[in-house]
Amino acid sequence: MNKILIDELLAMPNITLVGVTKKHSKEEVDELAKLGVKVFGENRVQEFLEKYDPKYTWHLIGHLQTNKVKYLIGKVDMIESVDSLKLAKEIEKQAAKKNVIQKILIEVKISHDPNKTGLPLCELNSLIAAIENMKHVKWCGLMTIASHTEDLDLVGKEFEQMNQLFNDLKKEHPEINTLSMGMSQDYQIAIEHGSNMVRIGTALFE
Ligand SMILES: *Cc1c(COP(=O)(O)O)cnc(C)c1O
Repeated sequence: MNKILIDELLAMPNITLVGVTKKHSKEEVDELAKLGVKVFGENRVQEFLEKYDPKYTWHLIGHLQTNKVKYLIGKVDMIESVDSLKLAKEIEKQAAKKNVIQKILIEVKISHDPNKTGLPLCELNSLIAAIENMKHVKWCGLMTIASHTEDLDLVGKEFEQMNQLFNDLKKEHPEINTLSMGMSQDYQIAIEHGSNMVRIGTALFE
């Protein structure tokens, strides 16, 4: 475990560290928790359910199929990867059944990389409008994954575009407070551009 990095990230004011534990064991989750990590991110539902421990706060950060939503509600604090109206509707439906309010982020596709997931920017406003009418879904902000590239200028541009988008949306929707961006490779750049939630896996385990 990279205790130095963990301490550094935990000491940053206004930044939430999500320790990404995919492909790591429950024992490693417990070790990270001992080092002070409070929030854990998993990208697959099955793997999440195998490690789930109600002592900790969990975020689902990977692409989510609608038929798996029912397994998450009541267990995950936040679903960061909402990228379609169909998915949002299913979260509303399942959260209503359990009478809970599910916090979500909308995952925006900022990268032009065809492999990247997320909602196309042009669909953002209509998804927000729909979610605002859902009683059991609380929209808390945006998530993104930048291009996977050595071109740090491009990564910086993408994060800055997200930062501006987030700040513009905040004027109309002052209740949103979370801009989740930055992974092991690029979290420093993300923080420079306004991120307040970083999702870090690989670097924590080095
Ligand atoms: C795996 C993953 C991360 C963490 O990536 P690292 O490069 O290991 O830090 C962050 N966000 C999402 C959506 C992921 O799937």
